[in-house]
Amino acid sequence: MIILKFAADVISQLKKVRLTKFSIGFVPTMGALHKGHISLLEKSKQVCEITICSIFINPTQFNNADDFKKYPVTLEHDIYTLEKNGCDILFLPDITEIYPDGIISKKHFDLGYLETILEGKYRPGHFQGVCQVVNRLLEIVDPTHLFMGQKDHQQCMVIKRLLELENLNIEPIICPTLREENGLAISSRNLRLNEQQREEAAEIYKTLLSIKQKIKPGSLHHLKKEAEEYLIKRNFKPDYIEIAEANNLKPVNEWDGIADLIAVVAVFINDVRLIDNILIKD
Ligand code: AMP
Repeated sequence: MIILKFAADVISQLKKVRLTKFSIGFVPTMGALHKGHISLLEKSKQVCEITICSIFINPTQFNNADDFKKYPVTLEHDIYTLEKNGCDILFLPDITEIYPDGIISKKHFDLGYLETILEGKYRPGHFQGVCQVVNRLLEIVDPTHLFMGQKDHQQCMVIKRLLELENLNIEPIICPTLREENGLAISSRNLRLNEQQREEAAEIYKTLLSIKQKIKPGSLHHLKKEAEEYLIKRNFKPDYIEIAEANNLKPVNEWDGIADLIAVVAVFINDVRLIDNILIKD
């Protein structure tokens, strides 16, 4: 695995690669790598001839300074894990490579209502920061394929919108959410939970599963309320628990039994915020 710290080196390295290879897969991450990240790398290796991963904890997407400060860093382990799992290139930039003109963006990405609902509502500025960093990374890497996790469903939608807005001919590939044995969606932030909290956090996925099992056409009000109360009773502080159309995330209160749905949730356990979702086909 080649490790590169400078954008210019990534650009020139990939220029050489492009002479003989047609597909370049890109897996952007914030590090503290886990099996979920590795599943994206594996998918990229199946689909593409070369895979590049990046690790960069992007300050502009944190709406909460404390969350940024406490974001886990496990760099040595990450490098070892990527190497072991066959990553070809690791891009490990520092902040000046990503934001040579400073972190205040002059560009606004028109994300429409995606920016004002759910994650957008509870994390103001978050998706502008995500677009800022992903746009810059894509400018440097210029991949053919971009690998992302279903766990961050709304983020996947935002990045698809970014690809349209910037006219980028890159194929987004969404990979399934990897879970712990107890159902908890694997997340870097899980490192901030103790063992007991990790067990308790399994209730988040249980709640989503229960929505999927119980859902019927008609009013969804009762189901949403019941799920919220269940979580509150177990000491989670929900930002939201919502059932929405899977392809546009518009909240659904009356289900026709036909539209593809997704149940999405964001909760706090103490000061750790976790998100998850489940697709509901029928
Ligand atoms: P992050 O490092 O949290 O920014 O995540 C980097 C990428 O890994 C994003 O596309 C995430 O959606 C994806 N990802 C994070 N957790 C999981 C998981 N449990 N399963 C699959 N993909 C994941």
